[in-house]
Amino acid sequence: MRPWTFEAHIPRTVFGQGTLSKIPEEVEKLGGKSVLIVTEDTDRQIALAERIGNDLGKDRVAGVCTDAVMHTPEDVTNKALEQLKASKADCLVSVGGGSTVGLGKALAIRTGIPHIAVPTTYAGSEATPILGETVNKLKTTRSDPKILPNTIVYDVDLTLSLPAQLTYTSGMNAIAHCVEALYSPTINPIIEGVAISGITNLYHALLKLKDAPNDIDARAQAQQGAYAAGVCLGHVGMAIHHKLCHTLGGTFNLPHAQTHTVVLPHAMAYNMEAAPVAMNQIAKAIGTDGSPAQALWELEKALGTVQSLESLGLKKEDLEVAADLAAKAQYPNPAPLERGKLLALLENAFYGRPPS
Ligand code: NAD
Repeated sequence: MRPWTFEAHIPRTVFGQGTLSKIPEEVEKLGGKSVLIVTEDTDRQIALAERIGNDLGKDRVAGVCTDAVMHTPEDVTNKALEQLKASKADCLVSVGGGSTVGLGKALAIRTGIPHIAVPTTYAGSEATPILGETVNKLKTTRSDPKILPNTIVYDVDLTLSLPAQLTYTSGMNAIAHCVEALYSPTINPIIEGVAISGITNLYHALLKLKDAPNDIDARAQAQQGAYAAGVCLGHVGMAIHHKLCHTLGGTFNLPHAQTHTVVLPHAMAYNMEAAPVAMNQIAKAIGTDGSPAQALWELEKALGTVQSLESLGLKKEDLEVAADLAAKAQYPNPAPLERGKLLALLENAFYGRPPS
């Protein structure tokens, strides 16, 4: 028997189709009278903000902030904070991917204003008390229960516009949260069940979405998987895969979901022998008798996703630096962190080789 401790931090969650129209109700539940809608500066996301604004009505919209960008830079947050203060808003609604939810969290933690997150990708940030912010190009991450949004509104309709490749890479990003949860030393039976359901839903949904991108049931299955993945990320520590992706994203500015996609099978191969229970659970969830790392690599091949770090813009000479950084960082991981093996992992990922 393994002892465990679990303290749940899960926001109120509204899940469904057409649920964007429930935002006024949710704002009211939080006592909000005046809302700042946070999004990014693209036509699609601004249109979503306008829809939310129309549902709320003019009197309850304090403004729309379109400043969200990747990596939550502090200067962007400071500018948005000025807008928030000037608007006198008493509630935040962030609508967008992980970058937008990140700005919503950064504003909420600085002001204590309640935050409703409306995610449009599968990144999972809405379900975590974690905030990554960039100051002078250095990304640091902190965790605080106060960072967790008060409410999540999942509207499956919002994911229909995700292009195929973003669907797949964002889905693989979510699978990575579940995979690393299963071999985390802080895993407990509750999160274990959540992680297994997340992998099962995401794996099978991605396969269905390949042939039927507008299949609403498959979209719902993927989004429920993404929610499960976010819950995993928010409750247990991650390991080598997330640390490598953090380094590759932070130091070499590689794109988030795509980097997760390329690295995941290789990180799993690295931990294959050291985490047999977790690997069996993953294999069972996706329905393979063989290596789950190989099965996910094959899934990526079938989906036509990016599979090499080279194609994401990494340079061969960066591999040594990345291996140094990954070996220096201290964090729990099933297999010991050895520079030579980490370099081999990175080389496989760089050239798009099968995991080994
Ligand atoms: P993102 O928010 O940057 O969005 C990626 C791209 O997808 C953008 O161009 C955006 O316009 C587009 N997009 C978003 N939704 C769309 C939709 N429905 N249809 C079409 N296009 C759409 O990327 P992401 O992968 O969602 O999030 C990555 C960021 O989130 C990273 O900065 C990462 O560190 C952070 N993150 C944080 C946590 C956390 O717990 N703190 C968890 C996961 C990710």
